Amino acid sequence: MEREIPLSLPDISQAEIDAVTEVMRSGRLSIGPRQDRFEEMVAERADQRHGIAVSSGTAGLHLVLEALGVGPGDEVITTPFSFIASANCILYVGATPVFVDVDPTSLNMDPGKVEAAITEKTKAIIAVEVFGNPRHMQRLAQIAGRHEVPLIEDACEGLGGVYRGRPVGSFGRAAVFGFYPNKQITTGEGGMIVTNDDRLAACCRSLRNQGRPVGDDHPDREVGSWLQHERLGYNYRLSEIAAAIGCVQMQRLDQLLERRRQVALMYFDRLMDNPDVILPNIDDDTQMSWFVFVVRLSHDFGAQARNRVMDGMRRHEIGVSNYFPPIHLQPCYRQRFGCEVGDFPLAESAAQRTIALPFYNRMDATQVELVCLTLKIMIDREKLLLRRDTTTEPGGPERN
Ligand SMILES: *Cc1c(COP(=O)(O)O)cnc(C)c1O
Repeated sequence: MEREIPLSLPDISQAEIDAVTEVMRSGRLSIGPRQDRFEEMVAERADQRHGIAVSSGTAGLHLVLEALGVGPGDEVITTPFSFIASANCILYVGATPVFVDVDPTSLNMDPGKVEAAITEKTKAIIAVEVFGNPRHMQRLAQIAGRHEVPLIEDACEGLGGVYRGRPVGSFGRAAVFGFYPNKQITTGEGGMIVTNDDRLAACCRSLRNQGRPVGDDHPDREVGSWLQHERLGYNYRLSEIAAAIGCVQMQRLDQLLERRRQVALMYFDRLMDNPDVILPNIDDDTQMSWFVFVVRLSHDFGAQARNRVMDGMRRHEIGVSNYFPPIHLQPCYRQRFGCEVGDFPLAESAAQRTIALPFYNRMDATQVELVCLTLKIMIDREKLLLRRDTTTEPGGPERN
């Protein structure tokens, strides 16, 4: 048996491999029927009229902000506790990120703090379903509506989730999904914008395709103006090869999500009684789409203890990660915006104690047991060392 337990693994079946072969034989490798089909499937799942496939989740976020006309002098509210793309897209268009602290239970932005941060310069709110948890999305949509500011869902971690009867991706003016190999579904690299806004959709279609014109009722390839560029655009297209993989993954989505739910349940079962571990907290009115399984060590532990626990697990060939180091403390944000430790204490406190555990569809009970056992041993070692450090008084044995 493989000893190594990776942090994540894509779930690729023979059907995806066959779909790729079929595209390769078809002669049509970009801008074709698989893209259209993939767009329909993802849009339908999010209960939106339009899907615009793009080359990554990051590219999708960039296009949405650009299509909304966000630019220099504008402010965009977002969370410091996310993958860095949630904030980088704001810098791409020359606008200013305004971070607000998180709700320490869900780790999503605190809606009250979002509302308090809105000014007349606020041009958008980017909300993230952190680790797949959609909590507060409805309240954030209400706040955005009240202040007439568009809500953008960075739904890159939440495909297929449902919150209070509504699918992830349906709460804002637009939402963006991501298909990197560690996500619920993958196309290798890829992303998808979904929206009900016809004009926004058309603008995003044009922007992803070098600013070429997009007919109202034509797919972009039929407009026949390959060398006409109406606006400054990008090449953010998704290949037919990637789209074909995406179509099969979407067909399998319910099966994939169910498998992930089973692995999450195994973790809950095994870790529930461990007082040193804080488990993910999911509302009853949430149908969770599990992206990753992230636990936090209790408040007795700091970042160094957490890092030693992670190192110990890695030495036992168990893949772990510290999702997420806060965005505002990344060097490029500190330098540009003068952010400092203490600016967003709740996000920082959570970030110091998180451990993402191995989480992928084919994980079995033995692998979950190995992870949880090793986690417990590493935590118990830290507790023992902590106790020794605090009971060693001056005059006691010398330590160095
Ligand atoms: C994965 C992810 C993205 C997009 O990542 P890409 O690698 O560009 O597809 C954006 N935001 C969040 C929160 C993510 O987790």
